Amino acid sequence: MLDLIAIRECLGCGTTEVDASPICDSCDAQLRPALQPISTRRTLMTHAWSTGTYDGPVGELVRRTKFGLDQRACILLEGHLVCCLERGLPFKPDSIVPVPTTPWRMMARGIHLPEILAGRIGQVSGAPVVWALRRRWGLPQSQRTFAERLEAGPDLFAPVQRVAGHVLVVDDVLTSGATLHAASAELLANGAESVSGLVMAAAGPLRRVAVRHS
Ligand SMILES: [Zn+2]
Repeated sequence: MLDLIAIRECLGCGTTEVDASPICDSCDAQLRPALQPISTRRTLMTHAWSTGTYDGPVGELVRRTKFGLDQRACILLEGHLVCCLERGLPFKPDSIVPVPTTPWRMMARGIHLPEILAGRIGQVSGAPVVWALRRRWGLPQSQRTFAERLEAGPDLFAPVQRVAGHVLVVDDVLTSGATLHAASAELLANGAESVSGLVMAAAGPLRRVAVRHS
């Protein structure tokens, strides 16, 4: 009975006005299968893209996957990502690096979304997924102020192995951009010629100043 009720709830906005579909028509229409360029200002990334916004259905699917371990939301996210990539990857990365988490947070959550997403991008692009970084211990980014995030940037990650060429760094959410900035700095210091970023959901100032790269 509980399963039947859950199935009728839209995974993108929570409305119960849908039948067997996991998301309502409104959310489905917002899942546009296209990578949206986002600003790389104040970061070391050459380009960055998002598949949606944090305050839209993509953001809700990310939250349900990360914090609710909702398998259906994860499947929808993966499908949305693959649709975006199949519409045209803007470049060919030499390697794909998921933003790492700490072992403790991995155990606490039981899922690491950037790793799942990086695997999907690897399948579509043919580029290898490389665990080039590890996360240093410290406060999660969500518990830091923006100033603290920027200050902590250089100490956020440590290199695990060297990379080469053009690296795509993958995360689930982009807020201040400090996480991807710190990851880019570490990758550039360890062999990358250039670094671009891809996130599922973008929020905060970087999304508001979004620019189009033609
Ligand atoms: Zn909905």
